[in-house]
Amino acid sequence: MMHADVLVVGTGIAGLSFAVRLAERCPEKQIIMISKRDLLESNTKYAQGGIAVVSNFTNDSYADHVDDTLKASDYTSDPDVVDFVVREGPKRVQELMDWGAQFDKKGTSLHLGKEGGHSAERIVHHKDQSGLHIQHALIAKARSLPNITFFENFSLVDLITDHHLSTTAHGKCYGAYVISIEDERIVKITSQLTVLSTGGAGQVYAHTTNPNAATGDGLGAAYRAKVRVENLHFVQFHPTALFPKVDGNTFLITEAMRGVGGVLRNIDGEAFMKDYDERLDLAPRDVVSRAIHSEMKKHQTSHVFLDATNIDKSKLQQEFPNIMATCLDIGIDITKAYIPVLPAAHYICGGIDVNEHGQSSLPGLYAIGECSHTGLHGANRLASNSLLEALVYAARAAEHAANTLSEPLLPKSFFDAIPAWLGTEDVSNERVKRISLLRQELQGIMSQHVGIVKSGESLRQAEKALHDVYMSTKALYQEDKLTPQLTTLRNLVSVAYLMIKQSQKYTKNKGVYFNQDYV
Ligand SMILES: Cc1cc2nc3c(=O)[nH]c(=O)nc-3n(C[C@H](O)[C@H](O)[C@H](O)COP(=O)(O)OP(=O)(O)OC[C@H]3O[C@@H](n4cnc5c(N)ncnc54)[C@H](O)[C@@H]3O)c2cc1C
Repeated sequence: MMHADVLVVGTGIAGLSFAVRLAERCPEKQIIMISKRDLLESNTKYAQGGIAVVSNFTNDSYADHVDDTLKASDYTSDPDVVDFVVREGPKRVQELMDWGAQFDKKGTSLHLGKEGGHSAERIVHHKDQSGLHIQHALIAKARSLPNITFFENFSLVDLITDHHLSTTAHGKCYGAYVISIEDERIVKITSQLTVLSTGGAGQVYAHTTNPNAATGDGLGAAYRAKVRVENLHFVQFHPTALFPKVDGNTFLITEAMRGVGGVLRNIDGEAFMKDYDERLDLAPRDVVSRAIHSEMKKHQTSHVFLDATNIDKSKLQQEFPNIMATCLDIGIDITKAYIPVLPAAHYICGGIDVNEHGQSSLPGLYAIGECSHTGLHGANRLASNSLLEALVYAARAAEHAANTLSEPLLPKSFFDAIPAWLGTEDVSNERVKRISLLRQELQGIMSQHVGIVKSGESLRQAEKALHDVYMSTKALYQEDKLTPQLTTLRNLVSVAYLMIKQSQKYTKNKGVYFNQDYV
């Protein structure tokens, strides 16, 4: 077993910036961070566009950023949350730069990109690899702090709550059971405070911009611990993922490319966005994704095109070197040929319900970053507002945690008495294959029935098909040894179930949610 003052599950921008701030604020407190893969692997690593933040007060204002956020959400965001996130943004981005992140400059000012739904240029970025650069900077900063200990390749199994106790209950979260990906050992990590920063759940779908590890594990564990999880029916699809997959992964073509003049064209080469929205190619993502979905259906094609041939070659080389290189690898010179694209699951607007300090409904448990539901995004996230949200809430949660840790805490003997996880039998190869097939089956169900356009009937079919996957998963869970693959499958099933049930309860079309029965 291990014990820490704070356990942070997840090392993306949310978990790392939380830990750095808390470690500096409370140098005597011990923080353990775990990540499912290496420290770098996360949704953050793949963020291209950057962070939406007001920094040029001549052409932009807090009021405009607030308005754009509310408008993108179809006026379903919480206005108070939007206001403080937008206003605290500049301080958090400055802090990130103080910790070592460097963003592109134009003269002495920050170079600002523009993305769909934004009325001004306000995206702070590092070429087209903003997230990778931020991750490197944060990891280096966190590694320099002696009171943060990292455990890579450990996956969350379950949160430790009263349910696991044989002693007096306090109605709190007491840490987590985690499993080693390498040797499948289950370890008990107890803590005074626990933070979930486990990121997204795009892997619920067959086509997603999220990496393989984005399986909604924090959401699944929270749901099993009876923590409130909300708004999972608001799934944002990114309109322009590269088609086909590259090395088995769906590669994103950033919206910033449409910000500098990229044009969407259907299979016949016609620019079609004029038929859907007056903001054309820079309409919000839900509008563009539905337009592409409709064009693909109309022309019976698996993709449309993004035309970047009209953009100055030096601009493409300067601002999108990674996209240019990736497309070239699969034989597409984007200065001369159209890029084949399709929408892919990108961002879960909902998550673990939290208050303004990132506290969940379970005392002692915080949730920050993409796995949380703060009220910022409502029914639809404005582009590049998620890195911003992660930074602002990580700082708020760290301040709150620092104050909580200065109050009387539970004695170490209490944590020692929490039982270890009970082990089970060995796993057969047959079973590993079965788990992988069930995962693919679930992704197929969600893509076919719970995608960009839903209906009452499609949701019913999804519920029925998912039930079979659930029963098979349950049987595996009860019969055999727990493995990282099985815990992941169990979480995917929980997230898919919540997405379907919450979709069925939502009886209007708002933001990214579109049910054709309500047109
Ligand atoms: C391709 C792409 C491009 C994007 N571009 C932008 C952009 O330009 N601007 C923007 O604002 N947003 C963008 N986003 C969204 C944004 O990147 C994410 O919302 C944000 O990075 C989430 O940060 P996070 O810290 O909450 O989670 P993540 O960065 O996803 O980190 C999650 C962490 O949790 C760990 N974890 C997960 N499950 C477990 C488990 N079971 N046990 C232990 N650890 C676990 C992972 O290993 C990882 O360390 C993009 C997303 C993608 C996928």
